[in-house]
Amino acid sequence: MERVYNFSAGPSVLPEVVLKQAADEMMNYNGTGMSVMEMSHRSKAFEEIIQTAEQDLRDLLKIPDNYKVLFLQGGASQQFAAIPMNLMKNGVADYIITGQWAKKAFEEAKQYGKVKAVASSADKTFSYIPDCSDLDIDEDADYVYICHNNTIYGTAYKELPNTKGKILVADMSSDILSQPVNVEDYGLIYFGVQKNVGPAGVVVVIIREDLIREDVLPGTPTMLKYKTQADADSLYNTPPAYGIYICGKVFKWVKEMGGLEAMKIHNEKKAAILYDFLDSSKLFKGTVEKKDRSLMNVPFVTGNEELDAKFVKEATAAGFVNLKGHRTVGGMRASIYNAMPIEGVEKLVEFMKRFEEENLPK
Ligand SMILES: *Cc1c(COP(=O)(O)O)cnc(C)c1O
Repeated sequence: MERVYNFSAGPSVLPEVVLKQAADEMMNYNGTGMSVMEMSHRSKAFEEIIQTAEQDLRDLLKIPDNYKVLFLQGGASQQFAAIPMNLMKNGVADYIITGQWAKKAFEEAKQYGKVKAVASSADKTFSYIPDCSDLDIDEDADYVYICHNNTIYGTAYKELPNTKGKILVADMSSDILSQPVNVEDYGLIYFGVQKNVGPAGVVVVIIREDLIREDVLPGTPTMLKYKTQADADSLYNTPPAYGIYICGKVFKWVKEMGGLEAMKIHNEKKAAILYDFLDSSKLFKGTVEKKDRSLMNVPFVTGNEELDAKFVKEATAAGFVNLKGHRTVGGMRASIYNAMPIEGVEKLVEFMKRFEEENLPK
């Protein structure tokens, strides 16, 4: 069967060359006579896989030496608890609520300390990023938390909040590697890999070394202490080895694509094709404020639920799949991560134009 254009928000499209390489190496990885799935995580071959993956990620993001890179499990959602457990010294943190993922992290953190929502865009269904230039940051805040790209609502920070000197923590699950990042602006960056990097089952934490402490909140499980994982170079127990191997291949692919500067140009070009069409369309329209638009997730509606459903159905039949919006917001959403080729977006827009001609109320 032909491959489809997969606009899923996650797990999502991966580069075809990576899938092909993985297929080629399935039965015999690099002369070992076995699949990466079958090998010891203590083997020389796997050691090289994880170390190369880390180095390539460091090169791509220009991660300074005083930051650790951890390959963990539990998904992004487990970090909602791990972050307060590890970073709360004063038991205080401030959260900026720009969507469901930020809200979930906020609700989870409430179990561990005094947390406050210092800004929110809930008043307009998270269709914008609030002004974060002068927030009421608590003097004792151990960190300020953001979700950098809001996968469900399709907004992204173009400018970082003024944290008034406090540590910034960011969930970059849905936009990591889509553009350059100045890692030093953050104390901690984390991402579940299944949006823009690899298969579900790996979450990567990039943390400044001085934030890795022994004296974490009482009751923090051994596995959730960053210190445990950092001291063991992510090999405290069996890591999600196959997932890390695929992530490593994607890191190499991003390097071959020209790195993050090139990725940004590529992503801006792709997103512009879709946004320009939405801005000129008489049927479809984007749902978020222009200045806050995400390069990765593009929600849109026709304004008529039945027509939305018809569009999703016909698009699916034509090979443009997973365009249905998140169950909580309806409408459509096209996720156009790194691995979505430009032709995918061009063809989607052609399809939308045709649908518009056929369905525009006369
Ligand atoms: C998908 C997503 C999550 C949740 O990821 P899991 O790995 O399923 O826990 C968290 N944050 C963002 C921004 C996401 O896009």
